[in-house]
Amino acid sequence: MIIQPKTRGFICTTAHPEGCAKQVERQIKYVKEQKGISGPRNVLVIGASTGYGLASRIVSAFGAGAATIGVYFDKPAEGARTASAGWYNSAAFEASAQEAGLKSYSIVGDAFSDEIKTKTIDLIKSELGQVDLVVYSVASPRRTHPKTGETFSSVIKPLGGVYTNKTVNFHTGEVSQATIEPATEDELRQTIAVMGGEDWEMWIDAMEQAGVLAEGATTVAYSYIGPEITHAVYREGTIGAAKNHLEATAKTLNDRLDSKGGRAFVSVNKALVTQSSSAIPVVPLYISALYKIMKEKGLHEGCIEQMYRLFSERLYGEGSAPVDEKGLIRVDDWEMKPDIQAEVAKVWEQLTTDNVYELSDLEGYRREFFQLFGFETDGVDYEADTNPDVAMPGLR
Ligand code: NAD
Repeated sequence: MIIQPKTRGFICTTAHPEGCAKQVERQIKYVKEQKGISGPRNVLVIGASTGYGLASRIVSAFGAGAATIGVYFDKPAEGARTASAGWYNSAAFEASAQEAGLKSYSIVGDAFSDEIKTKTIDLIKSELGQVDLVVYSVASPRRTHPKTGETFSSVIKPLGGVYTNKTVNFHTGEVSQATIEPATEDELRQTIAVMGGEDWEMWIDAMEQAGVLAEGATTVAYSYIGPEITHAVYREGTIGAAKNHLEATAKTLNDRLDSKGGRAFVSVNKALVTQSSSAIPVVPLYISALYKIMKEKGLHEGCIEQMYRLFSERLYGEGSAPVDEKGLIRVDDWEMKPDIQAEVAKVWEQLTTDNVYELSDLEGYRREFFQLFGFETDGVDYEADTNPDVAMPGLR
């Protein structure tokens, strides 16, 4: 079939297998061109199919030569429906990993469930014995609690008061005001249950109990802080409260793992175009302004550059991993440079529908958004008949 992008609201409901494969190849190539990392041997990535989790898996395999298990929630093609981008990304990753002689396996299903945890632990036992790095990179709008059966939904809302700021429809370039009502207590509770640290801790508990976590193992989850302009809706809003919970969980886990030489971290990463971040109001416009400035200064990074720097300089660099006063790893350090933030703030004041393409990299944002689904990628013939059915080499 001829596969074209189909958008509904801010999501794209189709994906292109060859385009996704090209995006994965590009990331693998980048990592292979860098210095090798003396890092983990056996890695579990939970949320491994797109964004930061996919990049973590690629760096583990092609930077450190590790065997990897990826857990993710993606669908294969069915009838006239293409597979999701994460499926095609993972299939391309696994084909390349296996070609390079690296063990790689996929578990597809709900990471929040007991069933998927048990299945993953059984796979670790049978194929790897133990893992020495667990990356937790799940971003989801919903979670069903495995013990109580309650289904929580996360919301992106401010706390305490109404928030109004500029936002953009990145398909049309229209800049408008977004006004978001504050969250209720229950929405806050549910968002923390979805995006906080409870599930991460459940994974580590289950793995410790089953004896599949190696002595001295490391675990890392990802967070975001960002600029003043998004604080009310992000860091000081419902998602920020969930991230506070995640960061507190890192402390608890670190105290526990420390006695066996292990470590737990939260790494604060840069704002990037991913399926998750494109759903947050205000953030796509901020990212567009940020991209233009960071590209001009030669400091721009994507997921793969961020994760390579995290692994090579922080998690597996010389000496202990450098952290800030709150114990967080900061690979958002370039984004948060005072001169960059001052320039973003200046541009922010001026942004309107009339000048958004000139003052920000909205076109770059839009293109990267479609590239997440394998579209607008150089070297792919989008008019060619394409088979949407792609097998997953390491599927268990
Ligand atoms: P993403 O949407 O690209 O990836 C999310 C991953 O989670 C996918 O692999 C998806 O399959 C998986 N997933 C979702 N629900 C699942 C479930 N129930 N079971 C198993 N897998 C599931 O997201 P991302 O932007 O890479 O975010 C990953 C982490 O990085 C999040 O904690 C996010 O807050 C953080 N982060 C993102 C940014 C950013 O700008 N994108 C910045 C800093 C930190």
